[in-house]
Amino acid sequence: MATLAKKAAAEAVDELVPMLTRLQLTAIRDQLDTLLDQAARSELNLREALAMLCAAEVGRKNERRIQMGLSIAKFPFVRTLEGFEYDAQPSIDSKQIRELATSRWVANGDSVLLLGPPGVGKTHLAVALGREAIVRGYSTLFVPATNLVTQLARAHVDGRLEEKLIHFSKPKLLVVDELGYLPFEPNAAHLFFQLVSRRYERGSMLVTSNRSVAEWGGVFGDPVVATAILDRLMHHSHVITIRGDSYRLRSKRRAGLANQASAKSDAASSS
Ligand code: ADP
Ligand code: MG
Repeated sequence: MATLAKKAAAEAVDELVPMLTRLQLTAIRDQLDTLLDQAARSELNLREALAMLCAAEVGRKNERRIQMGLSIAKFPFVRTLEGFEYDAQPSIDSKQIRELATSRWVANGDSVLLLGPPGVGKTHLAVALGREAIVRGYSTLFVPATNLVTQLARAHVDGRLEEKLIHFSKPKLLVVDELGYLPFEPNAAHLFFQLVSRRYERGSMLVTSNRSVAEWGGVFGDPVVATAILDRLMHHSHVITIRGDSYRLRSKRRAGLANQASAKSDAASSS
């Protein structure tokens, strides 16, 4: 019995690499000698060695999945929560951000509103939280608000609105960035409302805006529809209002540039 198994194994060894390829165990295949060496040196038993090989494969597959998710999400830049300096933005509760980083809000279909003036890190946090959602397996799409509305309006004209609404409803998390920077066109409010209704209690939205919620009526040019949009977004929501200075200006000021600039303008105005 033992010799039969030994004989079969000896024959299978020649086929090991093709078999790993066929099973798509490419991480094990590519690092086979190193992994087997490690297992031998650490005197792992068979079960432990098999677990180590599986862990290598799962690790690689996870990495690939995350890379794929990040490229599908179309983030405008790479930003992480590790790269966010809480000291620079005291109005942000780091505990609340850490809780959001668990992505439980995405699992629950809640919304997040990130509000505050330009440069305080809204897009940074939006991208970083989107990234955390992808790591935890939630499909994510990032879209600037004006771009979103332009796409919906164009699709509406072309009779393809339904198709576009489906496209933007599919991801578990939709990040809509910079709502309110530019005024929307007249039927934008209605189109945006349709999308928010479609996603309501199905998928999460993260919206960043430089306008307070009270100003959204003006942003949408239609207070009634703006209220209906807010009603849905705010139902299960986490609102983070960031107060304070622009991060860019702050770092310039640190370098003494802003002081020089203001000294110059003071000199210019007094002359
Ligand atoms: P907003 O979207 O609020 O206008 P951004 O998120 O685009 O601001 O931030 C502007 C720049 O400053 C980005 O490069 C961002 O990464 C950086 N930044 C802003 N706040 C912080 C912070 N607290 N820690 C680290 N980087 C920050
Ligand atoms: Mg921004």
